[in-house]
Amino acid sequence: MSFLTTSHLSRYFDLSEPWLVRKIKGQPKKLLKAVDEVNIGVERGQTYALVGESGSGKSTIAMMVAGLLKPSSGTVLFNGDNFFNPSLGKIKRMSMRKSVQMIFQSPYASLNPRWKVGDILKEPIKAFSLIEDETNQINRVCELLEQVGLSPRDMLKYPHEFSGGQRQRICIARALASKPEIIICDEPTSALDVSVQAQVLNLLKDLQQAFSLTYLFISHDLAVVSTMANKIGVLKQGILVEEATPSKLFLRPEHDYTKMLLSAAPDISNASRI
Ligand code: ADP
Ligand code: MG
Repeated sequence: MSFLTTSHLSRYFDLSEPWLVRKIKGQPKKLLKAVDEVNIGVERGQTYALVGESGSGKSTIAMMVAGLLKPSSGTVLFNGDNFFNPSLGKIKRMSMRKSVQMIFQSPYASLNPRWKVGDILKEPIKAFSLIEDETNQINRVCELLEQVGLSPRDMLKYPHEFSGGQRQRICIARALASKPEIIICDEPTSALDVSVQAQVLNLLKDLQQAFSLTYLFISHDLAVVSTMANKIGVLKQGILVEEATPSKLFLRPEHDYTKMLLSAAPDISNASRI
């Protein structure tokens, strides 16, 4: 079994009108299959990329894998443990929360604008009771800032004093604070300029090496994914239609939808340069 395994992972959203309206209009129930029977396996220390157009179910998978959204059916297992197992003990749940972290697309929306960066980074350290002593907490914040290419002085600043790329670095530092084993990156560079994208991707690669991290890397951009992934899964309307290594996928795509995604990505030939 892989480090992260999803089996028959599904999430449906009920888009029906209220019961009485349906009754009067004679409408059936309307279920959206946002994620439909998705099976993926992510090996420890590797990067699995999920690609697909907007609305294909990528973020829904990310939320279920992170334990933030309950699957309609199917399971997500980390080393055999399931966030939604009702008999999972409190201590085990806490240790899973520590080891599974997430980075979101918008570094603007995901940082509290009223908090200084130092407090933002101290929050997970305190919440998980990782370090009790105040001086050691500050030392850890300094270490985290340096690990993501920022300066310890930055802990006194507010998020609005940083550029988009720097803010995403702060989000990455916050994700690293609990020493996770896996980070789910949901379009982490989609809101950034291309040059900044490359820097953030390189940082993520360096951190993966340094801390043996596993990534579930979500993107609509095949060029971004080609430089990061060991394996790519292609998602169309909630269904995993193809799964392959990057070289196989780019050279011999099998599914028409993958071919369409490839033809819609003009900068694939430049992918190795970013
Ligand atoms: P992606 O991240 O690939 O753009 P999402 O996972 O966000 O796609 O969404 C997949 C589909 O599920 C979309 O059609 C979206 O509108 C729908 N969806 C997502 N969340 C909800 C929700 N809470 N309620 C209803 N529909 C939702
Ligand atoms: Mg999304």
